[in-house]
Amino acid sequence: MNSVLVLNADYSPLTLCTIERAFLLVYLKKAELISDIKEKSLRTIDHRYPFPSVIKIKNYVHVPYKGVVLSRHNIFKRDDFCCQYCGTGKDLTLDHLIPKSKGGKSSWTNLVTACKRCNTRKGDFKPEDVGLQLSKKPIRPSYVMFLKSSAKSIRKDWMPFLEHKVSA
Ligand SMILES: [Zn+2]
Repeated sequence: MNSVLVLNADYSPLTLCTIERAFLLVYLKKAELISDIKEKSLRTIDHRYPFPSVIKIKNYVHVPYKGVVLSRHNIFKRDDFCCQYCGTGKDLTLDHLIPKSKGGKSSWTNLVTACKRCNTRKGDFKPEDVGLQLSKKPIRPSYVMFLKSSAKSIRKDWMPFLEHKVSA
Protein backbone atom coordinates (compact mmCIF):
# COMPACT_ATOMS: atom_id res chain seq x y z
CA MET A 1 0.00 0.00 0.00
CA ASN A 2 1.58 3.23 -1.17
CA SER A 3 0.58 5.90 1.24
CA VAL A 4 3.50 8.25 1.62
CA LEU A 5 4.08 11.11 -0.78
CA VAL A 6 7.70 11.33 -1.86
CA LEU A 7 8.97 14.73 -2.96
CA ASN A 8 12.01 15.39 -5.04
CA ALA A 9 14.74 17.58 -3.57
CA ASP A 10 12.99 20.62 -5.08
CA TYR A 11 9.68 19.75 -3.39
CA SER A 12 8.02 18.61 -6.60
CA PRO A 13 5.97 15.40 -6.26
CA LEU A 14 8.00 12.40 -7.34
CA THR A 15 6.19 9.23 -6.42
CA LEU A 16 4.38 7.36 -3.70
CA CYS A 17 5.87 4.73 -1.44
CA THR A 18 4.97 2.53 1.47
CA ILE A 19 5.26 3.57 5.10
CA GLU A 20 8.05 1.03 5.57
CA ARG A 21 10.08 2.38 2.69
CA ALA A 22 9.57 5.99 3.76
CA PHE A 23 10.64 5.15 7.27
CA LEU A 24 13.76 3.42 5.99
CA LEU A 25 14.71 6.32 3.70
CA VAL A 26 14.39 8.78 6.57
CA TYR A 27 16.20 6.44 8.95
CA LEU A 28 19.09 6.06 6.49
CA LYS A 29 19.09 9.84 6.08
CA LYS A 30 18.36 9.60 2.39
CA ALA A 31 15.20 11.56 2.88
CA GLU A 32 13.80 13.95 5.41
CA LEU A 33 10.44 13.98 7.02
CA ILE A 34 8.29 16.87 5.82
CA SER A 35 4.96 15.97 7.33
CA ASP A 36 3.82 13.24 9.66
CA ILE A 37 0.52 11.95 10.92
CA LYS A 38 0.25 13.25 14.44
CA GLU A 39 -2.31 10.72 15.65
CA LYS A 40 -0.08 7.83 14.70
CA SER A 41 3.45 6.72 15.42
CA LEU A 42 5.74 3.84 14.63
CA ARG A 43 6.94 2.00 17.70
CA THR A 44 9.77 -0.28 18.49
CA ILE A 45 10.40 -1.67 21.95
CA ASP A 46 12.21 1.40 23.18
CA HIS A 47 11.42 4.06 20.63
CA ARG A 48 8.64 6.01 19.00
CA TYR A 49 9.05 7.41 15.54
CA PRO A 50 6.86 9.83 13.62
CA PHE A 51 4.46 8.20 11.17
CA PRO A 52 5.46 9.56 7.76
CA SER A 53 3.00 11.24 5.42
CA VAL A 54 5.28 13.34 3.21
CA ILE A 55 9.03 12.90 2.82
CA LYS A 56 11.56 14.69 0.67
CA ILE A 57 14.59 12.93 -0.76
CA LYS A 58 17.95 14.63 -0.27
CA ASN A 59 19.59 14.09 -3.61
CA TYR A 60 17.72 15.42 -6.59
CA VAL A 61 16.49 12.72 -8.93
CA HIS A 62 16.57 13.85 -12.50
CA VAL A 63 13.41 12.75 -14.23
CA PRO A 64 13.83 13.42 -17.95
CA TYR A 65 10.22 12.85 -18.90
CA LYS A 66 7.84 13.31 -16.08
CA GLY A 67 4.89 11.69 -17.67
CA VAL A 68 2.94 8.56 -17.25
CA VAL A 69 4.21 5.54 -19.12
CA LEU A 70 1.83 4.40 -21.81
CA SER A 71 0.96 0.84 -20.92
CA ARG A 72 -2.01 -1.43 -20.96
CA HIS A 73 -2.31 -1.26 -17.20
CA ASN A 74 -2.06 2.53 -17.10
CA ILE A 75 -4.75 2.93 -19.73
CA PHE A 76 -7.05 0.61 -17.77
CA LYS A 77 -6.29 2.69 -14.72
CA ARG A 78 -7.05 5.97 -16.48
CA ASP A 79 -10.35 4.48 -17.59
CA ASP A 80 -11.18 3.19 -14.09
CA PHE A 81 -10.95 -0.40 -15.30
CA CYS A 82 -14.16 -0.25 -17.25
CA CYS A 83 -15.15 -0.49 -20.87
CA GLN A 84 -15.45 3.01 -22.27
CA TYR A 85 -18.40 1.99 -24.42
CA CYS A 86 -20.65 -0.12 -22.19
CA GLY A 87 -19.13 0.32 -18.73
CA THR A 88 -18.46 -3.31 -17.88
CA GLY A 89 -15.35 -4.28 -15.95
CA LYS A 90 -15.17 -7.76 -17.47
CA ASP A 91 -12.95 -9.09 -20.27
CA LEU A 92 -11.08 -5.86 -20.80
CA THR A 93 -8.88 -5.25 -23.79
CA LEU A 94 -7.42 -2.21 -25.48
CA ASP A 95 -9.21 -0.66 -28.40
CA HIS A 96 -7.68 1.63 -31.01
CA LEU A 97 -10.26 4.36 -31.70
CA ILE A 98 -8.91 4.84 -35.18
CA PRO A 99 -8.05 1.27 -36.11
CA LYS A 100 -4.42 0.37 -36.66
CA SER A 101 -5.34 -0.75 -40.18
CA LYS A 102 -6.42 2.84 -40.88
CA GLY A 103 -3.25 4.35 -39.50
CA GLY A 104 -4.38 4.80 -35.89
CA LYS A 105 -1.52 5.19 -33.45
CA SER A 106 -0.93 3.53 -30.12
CA SER A 107 -1.23 6.69 -28.07
CA TRP A 108 -3.03 7.99 -24.99
CA THR A 109 -5.64 9.69 -27.13
CA ASN A 110 -6.22 6.79 -29.51
CA LEU A 111 -6.34 3.93 -27.03
CA VAL A 112 -9.25 3.21 -24.76
CA THR A 113 -10.31 0.39 -22.51
CA ALA A 114 -12.96 -1.76 -24.15
CA CYS A 115 -14.49 -5.11 -23.31
CA LYS A 116 -14.08 -7.93 -25.80
CA ARG A 117 -17.71 -7.69 -26.84
CA CYS A 118 -17.55 -3.99 -27.74
CA ASN A 119 -14.14 -4.43 -29.29
CA THR A 120 -15.43 -7.19 -31.54
CA ARG A 121 -18.50 -5.16 -32.43
CA LYS A 122 -16.31 -2.24 -33.33
CA GLY A 123 -13.90 -4.32 -35.37
CA ASP A 124 -12.07 -2.28 -37.94
CA PHE A 125 -14.43 0.68 -37.77
CA LYS A 126 -14.51 3.96 -35.94
CA PRO A 127 -16.87 3.92 -32.93
CA GLU A 128 -19.44 6.23 -34.53
CA ASP A 129 -19.63 3.99 -37.60
CA VAL A 130 -21.06 1.14 -35.55
CA GLY A 131 -23.13 3.16 -33.09
CA LEU A 132 -20.74 2.99 -30.18
CA GLN A 133 -20.26 6.03 -28.00
CA LEU A 134 -17.34 6.75 -25.71
CA SER A 135 -18.21 7.59 -22.12
CA LYS A 136 -15.40 10.14 -22.05
CA LYS A 137 -12.75 11.55 -24.31
CA PRO A 138 -9.42 9.80 -23.80
CA ILE A 139 -6.68 12.12 -22.56
CA ARG A 140 -3.05 11.85 -21.62
CA PRO A 141 -3.06 11.92 -17.82
CA SER A 142 -0.82 14.38 -16.06
CA TYR A 143 1.70 12.97 -13.65
CA VAL A 144 0.05 14.56 -10.63
CA MET A 145 -3.37 13.32 -11.72
CA PHE A 146 -1.82 9.90 -11.94
CA LEU A 147 -0.23 10.10 -8.51
CA LYS A 148 -3.58 11.12 -7.11
CA SER A 149 -5.35 8.19 -8.72
CA SER A 150 -2.70 5.78 -7.46
CA ALA A 151 -3.09 6.82 -3.86
CA LYS A 152 -5.63 5.11 -1.67
CA SER A 153 -6.52 8.48 -0.26
CA ILE A 154 -5.12 11.96 -0.58
CA ARG A 155 -4.29 13.56 2.71
CA LYS A 156 -4.68 17.26 3.34
CA ASP A 157 -0.99 17.74 4.01
CA TRP A 158 -0.23 16.50 0.47
CA MET A 159 -2.25 19.14 -1.25
CA PRO A 160 0.22 22.05 -1.15
CA PHE A 161 2.76 19.84 -2.90
CA LEU A 162 0.38 18.35 -5.44
CA GLU A 163 -1.07 21.70 -6.42
CA HIS A 164 2.30 23.31 -6.63
CA LYS A 165 4.27 23.03 -9.86
CA VAL A 166 2.06 20.86 -11.97
CA SER A 167 4.41 19.84 -14.70
CA ALA A 168 3.28 17.16 -17.06
ZN1 LIG B 1 -18.07 -2.94 -23.59
